[in-house]
Amino acid sequence: KGRVARRFAGIERSATVALLDLVQSLRAEGVQVLDLGGGEPDFDTADHISAVATEALRDGFTHYTASRGLPELRAAIAEKLAEENGIGVDPATEVIVTPSAKHALFVSVMAVLDPLDELIVPTPSWVSYTSMAHLAGARPVAAELRADDGFRITRDLLERHVSDRTKAILVNTPNNPTGRVLSRHEAEAVAEFAVEHDLFVIADEIYEKIRYDGHEHISLASMPGCAERTLTVNGFSKGYAMTGWRLGYVAGPAEVIGEVLKVHEHTVGCTSSFVQRGGVAALTGPQDAVEEMAREYAARRALIVDGLNALPGVRCAAPEGAFYAFADIREAGLGSAADFSRWALEEAGVALTPGSAFGPGGEGHVRLSFATSRTVIEQALERMDAALRRAA
Ligand code: PLP
Repeated sequence: KGRVARRFAGIERSATVALLDLVQSLRAEGVQVLDLGGGEPDFDTADHISAVATEALRDGFTHYTASRGLPELRAAIAEKLAEENGIGVDPATEVIVTPSAKHALFVSVMAVLDPLDELIVPTPSWVSYTSMAHLAGARPVAAELRADDGFRITRDLLERHVSDRTKAILVNTPNNPTGRVLSRHEAEAVAEFAVEHDLFVIADEIYEKIRYDGHEHISLASMPGCAERTLTVNGFSKGYAMTGWRLGYVAGPAEVIGEVLKVHEHTVGCTSSFVQRGGVAALTGPQDAVEEMAREYAARRALIVDGLNALPGVRCAAPEGAFYAFADIREAGLGSAADFSRWALEEAGVALTPGSAFGPGGEGHVRLSFATSRTVIEQALERMDAALRRAA
């Protein structure tokens, strides 16, 4: 027996978090780094939300809550899901409030997958899904989407990755890192596939509030035959700029949520009481800040996409949602995505994330977050343009 569990041996540290560490150490050395690596809104949480949580603290609202979450927050979530997403859930038995969407995904994966079960993940994808599957002892199966096909999910592709051990499929829309928003046609393909093979669907819809050009958000749980087989995960980090609050939720059929609840109760017990009060304020209060942030992301998107397409050898399709530009650097002549990222950091002082960090299909691309100011975006583009022209 070793000193530590073997369970973690094959699991890498989060590539995006490791990049953040590198940026911080470079900054400590005095290097001026422009950070387009992170996935964190640069806005502060709206005042009316913070005020409610502060008041809760002052009032001594500092005790454990029901493990499923505050009844008023679950009620607000159920109402939101019914109104905005076409999902009907009973707040008493079909919703759990979690400390982050990340934790909601983790408890969902733990509750749904047995060791050796397979979880289909269309890739490139957010870095943690595969690691979560590994932590559950399950096997992530990457269904590689093709850049040349606009990272589109097709029934045919999914069929090629199914086996008799396939238990679930995890879909993220709007997507990190590709910026794709699932079309109705794609949602139908996923839904029909899940129904036909009797699979669970775990739907990560954390970027729901950030979409462009009128792209419609489709919740998988609202598709025919999917309500009874889908766990919908969402949270407050991105749309409401509440990353540090750690607040999310999972909703789905009562018998599955009952299993998810066991994992939740034996790991965190419940989500912070005063944080949940802030969540109620976010969902039931004015939504102006959410809309304003989405408008600002749209302006930044135009800036970064135009700027990237003007760089020699770089091409970038406009993202349909979320706040990432996923640029094709295959023609830039600087090698792999990791080579390009290293070059950008060393030669231009710009931190971005190599697409290869997001699994199969990500190579040849780099992800640039535009959850940062227009000034930083402009400077980063200027520095990369100058460095690329020097390299040519
Ligand atoms: N899902 C995706 C696709 C994300 O990009 C992120 C955050 O980066 C999360 C989930 C986690 O969000 P939270 O802050 O609620 O844990």
